Amino acid sequence: MKDDLSKLKDIETCSNCFSPRIVPYMGYETGKRFICQDCEHISVVTIIFEDLESLVKFLQEKRENEKNN
Ligand SMILES: [Zn+2]
Repeated sequence: MKDDLSKLKDIETCSNCFSPRIVPYMGYETGKRFICQDCEHISVVTIIFEDLESLVKFLQEKRENEKNN
């Protein structure tokens, strides 16, 4: 299956590493969660970006900030 992220709107991302590769993870107790396929972090909240462009821009800025630290 081919990923076509460029057409997505309201992209949900991992709250730990901001990867859009999250899938629903069903817990027994607390309902809906997501597991990240990149860092395997399980999150209840996700960070939502308007579109791929916003996400890419955010990640670039984040990387810049980390470089400066
Ligand atoms: Zn992650």
